[in-house]
Amino acid sequence: MKSAPFTHHAPDSVGAAVELLGEHAGRARVLAGGQSLVPLMHRRIERPAHLVDINRIDGLDRIAAGSAGLSLGAVARQRAVETSPEVARGWPLLCEALAEVAHPAIRNRGTVVGSVCNADPSAELPAAALALDGRVVAEGPAGRREIELAEFFAAANRTALAPEEVAVELVLPPSPLRTGSTWIEVCRRAGDLPVAGVAVVVGLDEGGACDRARIVCANAGPVPFDAVDQVGPLLGRAPDPRLAAAVGEAVAAACAPVSDYQGTEMERRRVLATLVRRALLGAAERAGGVL
Ligand SMILES: Cc1cc2nc3c(=O)[nH]c(=O)nc-3n(C[C@H](O)[C@H](O)[C@H](O)COP(=O)(O)OP(=O)(O)OC[C@H]3O[C@@H](n4cnc5c(N)ncnc54)[C@H](O)[C@@H]3O)c2cc1C
Repeated sequence: MKSAPFTHHAPDSVGAAVELLGEHAGRARVLAGGQSLVPLMHRRIERPAHLVDINRIDGLDRIAAGSAGLSLGAVARQRAVETSPEVARGWPLLCEALAEVAHPAIRNRGTVVGSVCNADPSAELPAAALALDGRVVAEGPAGRREIELAEFFAAANRTALAPEEVAVELVLPPSPLRTGSTWIEVCRRAGDLPVAGVAVVVGLDEGGACDRARIVCANAGPVPFDAVDQVGPLLGRAPDPRLAAAVGEAVAAACAPVSDYQGTEMERRRVLATLVRRALLGAAERAGGVL
């Protein structure tokens, strides 16, 4: 099958892209890497009348790491981010998650920001970026605004972006000292979307007790599942296998996975309990914790 007819626009500035989105409000979509949108268009699940292609806008491919954090422009390719030494040093969780996304050919074209905007609840990057406390910088007719990822994912494949807004940047803050992180997932075939995945970030104080913890699960509900209510028992304690297992069980009970062709809801909860336990112990070890 081929796409329904559409008009391709290739603006050379973000302002022009915003204007086009406003002019064709509700009938236009942003085109970044096209690795999610184009297959859906070919199957006529998506039928935008206008594509606003942001690939020719200067500067949107930037990957800038500094003391203020990591800034990824809207067309920074997944593979370029994954292989950046600065990203690997400061945000290793993102590189670990990226290595599990699809295949290198797809990552050569797909963008990190596009994956976050696509808001697939089973995808790696929305969960990893949320665990890293990311925020999206969006530009629309009223100017720029920043949206914390905790507020960004509205429903499966729906975000807080207005139809006439473009996400121009994803910003990830720097990690404090003694922070460890892990991405783990279970996949039926390499390159597939995960049956379930978990991003964990753990911070330890000087005595080795946990002073920060973030657990975000992929494929555990309609949006990435942020286990804010389940991390409490970790705080002030040195993570150990028994504690990690208890938190894993609590997260698996609280999240909202569904049954589909990859597994039942119950299988997913069992997988998530194990992934959370392992990821917590792995992250604590990387943070310098004694188990
Ligand atoms: C065979 C195959 C396997 C895959 N496997 C995986 C996998 O295992 N894990 C995984 O996470 N992904 C997987 N993907 C998807 C891939 O990671 C995509 O690259 C990603 O989901 C979307 O990024 P993109 O840049 O291609 O976005 P696009 O496809 O261009 O856009 C996706 C959506 O986001 C919107 N959008 C994109 N950028 C912006 C922006 N700057 N502002 C506003 N809206 C925007 C678009 O309008 C569209 O609705 C796979 C894709 C394929 C084809």
